Amino acid sequence: MNAAVRDWIRASDSITVLTGAGISTDSGIPDYRGPQGVWTKDPDAEKLVQYDTYMADPDIRRRSWLLRRDNPVRHAQPNAGHRALVEIERAGRLRGLITQNVDGLHVRAGNSEEKVIELHGTMFSVLCTRCGARTTLDENLARIDAGEPDPACENCGGIQKTATIMFGQMLERRVLERAAIAAQVCDVFLAIGSSLQVEPAASLCRVAVEAGAKLVVVNAEATPYDAVADAVVREPIGEVLPELVAGLG
Ligand SMILES: [Zn+2]
Repeated sequence: MNAAVRDWIRASDSITVLTGAGISTDSGIPDYRGPQGVWTKDPDAEKLVQYDTYMADPDIRRRSWLLRRDNPVRHAQPNAGHRALVEIERAGRLRGLITQNVDGLHVRAGNSEEKVIELHGTMFSVLCTRCGARTTLDENLARIDAGEPDPACENCGGIQKTATIMFGQMLERRVLERAAIAAQVCDVFLAIGSSLQVEPAASLCRVAVEAGAKLVVVNAEATPYDAVADAVVREPIGEVLPELVAGLG
């Protein structure tokens, strides 16, 4: 099975990849919804990522900024799985790298920003909810350390949040369109480390299959797309991805 997948990857010059939390667990980043997930163990934590609550309650915002400041994910490093996907781009075969993750590790590993499509945004940028001004997380953390517990937009005074999609928020249309196109025009679609239960990740698989791409699911647990996949790979991502892309030149 893996030999066949390796052949498909070698034969393709238009590969689109979709990644979920499973690719980042080797970097020490917890899965939010798994058995050991943050929200599974502390349901109260989920309130911090509800958009309405965040906008309405300054205390929630102050707690959120402290969590962002103390979040170990800020210092996480890419792992062998991320680096394997860089090889696909270096070989000139990557059409798009769609991710559900907000940890920025694909770009940090070496994939280019033009190829990476962050469905749920990034935790390293901050957006004003009123005027849309964009700043970096580091700039805002510096303001917190200087005594502003809930730093407002310096342009308009609006409430700021990280540029991630919270519960109750729509995904950005432009980002979704890029993802759909990348799924539609590839000939191999690799779905890696995603349970494929959250939209739009799931329907992107359907788009790829309907457009005639080979679908490869790489995930430890079963997904709703295993039945229509051309191959299902269960081995640990950090071990199997380097094997699957070996010899790409
Ligand atoms: Zn503003």
